[in-house]
Amino acid sequence: MERNITTLGIVLHSQRWGQANRRLKVLSVDLGIIDVVSYGAQKSHKAVKAEVFCDGHFFLYHNPVKGDYTLKDLKSIAGHEELREDLALNYTGLFFCEILLKVHGAESGREYALLSKALDLLTFAAERRALILIQYIHRLSDVLGIRVSLDRCPCCDRLYDTDEIVYFSSVFGSQCCEQCANLERTLILPPGARRYLTVTMAMEFEEAVGVDLNEAALKRIKAYMLGYAQYFCPSQLATLASGLL
Ligand SMILES: [Zn+2]
Repeated sequence: MERNITTLGIVLHSQRWGQANRRLKVLSVDLGIIDVVSYGAQKSHKAVKAEVFCDGHFFLYHNPVKGDYTLKDLKSIAGHEELREDLALNYTGLFFCEILLKVHGAESGREYALLSKALDLLTFAAERRALILIQYIHRLSDVLGIRVSLDRCPCCDRLYDTDEIVYFSSVFGSQCCEQCANLERTLILPPGARRYLTVTMAMEFEEAVGVDLNEAALKRIKAYMLGYAQYFCPSQLATLASGLL
């Protein structure tokens, strides 16, 4: 295996490692989520700066014996530093990273593209934070291959009526009609929310984020999507439990 590797990626997580180093979790297009040690990052001003949310080209050295990666250099495309200056934006970005750490699958390139765009939108369209949050989860469910069309029940294949409320089945792990549902009390999609999610499915991320919702609908759909995100994550999302989203 090549010892020097360059890959496009985003820092998802960073923690102290020993006296002066940091250990990063990087979502990389080519290698999936990898552990990268940044030596001297804790103290030296000359060390490579690679903070959480940083999106760029990572120059790595792979140690085939230890199996880990060392950060040699980083050519930043976007640092997204602005997100750290606002509590809600920071937590939203951390939430995006935390979900990927929990559900990361085979589609590293698509996960990277989604997170990269989401962090850019949070930085440049901060006032649309709730819509970015909704669309991120909506799009991630597609990347993970668990998104279903919201015009018919995937369990019994019946078309929904225009004003039908859609429920959820934990057996199928998807939205479904009332008869096929087994989670009647949670994850309920009213017709307006279902229409919004259907219409925005076909749009690009930034276009979908431009679609306005009234305050009540925004609140309801956001709560639904956060519940849905927690549903498809294998363990408790700490950023969600913070109540800051
Ligand atoms: Zn059904």
